[in-house]
Amino acid sequence: MGRTFHLCTITGIPLKAHWSIGLTLLFVAYVVHLHNLTVAASVGFVLLVLVMFVCIILHEFGHSMAARRYSIETLDIIISPIGGLARLQDVPEEPKKEIIVALAGPTVNVVIATIVGFSLHFILGTRLIPDSDSLELLGSPINFLRFVFTINIMLFVFNLIPAFPMDGGRVLRALLSIKLERVFATRVAMWLARLITFAFISLAISSNNITLGLIGVFIYVVSGKEYAYVKTAKRASSKVSEVLRLEYTKLKTTDPYRKVIDAYRSSNEKSFLVYDELENLVGAIPEVFIKDSVKNKNGPEVISDLMSTKVAIVSPSSTLQKVANMMNQEGIAICAVKDGEEVIGVIDRYAVEMFMKR
Ligand SMILES: [Zn+2]
Repeated sequence: MGRTFHLCTITGIPLKAHWSIGLTLLFVAYVVHLHNLTVAASVGFVLLVLVMFVCIILHEFGHSMAARRYSIETLDIIISPIGGLARLQDVPEEPKKEIIVALAGPTVNVVIATIVGFSLHFILGTRLIPDSDSLELLGSPINFLRFVFTINIMLFVFNLIPAFPMDGGRVLRALLSIKLERVFATRVAMWLARLITFAFISLAISSNNITLGLIGVFIYVVSGKEYAYVKTAKRASSKVSEVLRLEYTKLKTTDPYRKVIDAYRSSNEKSFLVYDELENLVGAIPEVFIKDSVKNKNGPEVISDLMSTKVAIVSPSSTLQKVANMMNQEGIAICAVKDGEEVIGVIDRYAVEMFMKR
């Protein structure tokens, strides 16, 4: 994500700016210089950029407030030159909720456009859209309002493009997941996003428009990430019982170290459980120990010479996410899976990682 700066906190949600927001200043200076704008138009342009960012922030708060209705908090809202991002603690999986949260952002832009449009049409009695896209027009307050109106309509339309990471992509995925399994729905949405990407890039090439091309590349990359994320999240919610190994090598503290090295080499077991003479689980041999002992000439002779005395036990109904967190936090390589009093199998770090990646 890169470095961000905390700007302020609104209704408990930290508002942050990505460092690259500084580039906007350069962009503004470049545009003012390129178009040789008058002072009034330059001031208008700077204000317009600021107002645009405010509209983007309000759009993101729209998502956050809708999510809050479903008790989903927002970690933070980050603004960058390519837009805003409300990082929600969780994505609502129920299609209806996901649709409401996704639409809440663009709705804010419709509300802003309606208010500005209403003022232009009914109070000022004038047109809603500026004569041209000449930035020189920004010198006049009425044209300034027309630009604000146009920007909000554009933000609305752009965000409804049915491709990740746009809100329209989320709506599409939610609609698909009414009938399809969620991971598959995300995959279909990702492929549709990629089709749209090709349309964008072809259009960009035929019209020589770099911005469109960049948007295309951006959609392509992010839509793939969304799919990977959903797939991993789905896997992380799987149960230990789906991954555990039922047959495993049981080592004794008095066994020669050779035994674990042979088992490691001749099977796809990576880490091992260690038992004492009375068949009590007393420790484990993680993969790193085995690798170390092979490298070391004067390695350990028996298992008890080099073993971890950490014993980790998980239940078959635990989620893989929980097990993975525990393994990372406590530096555990293998867990015994216990159903009641009985050890029914093992689950190791390698198996968890492979399952998550698959
Ligand atoms: Zn949005």
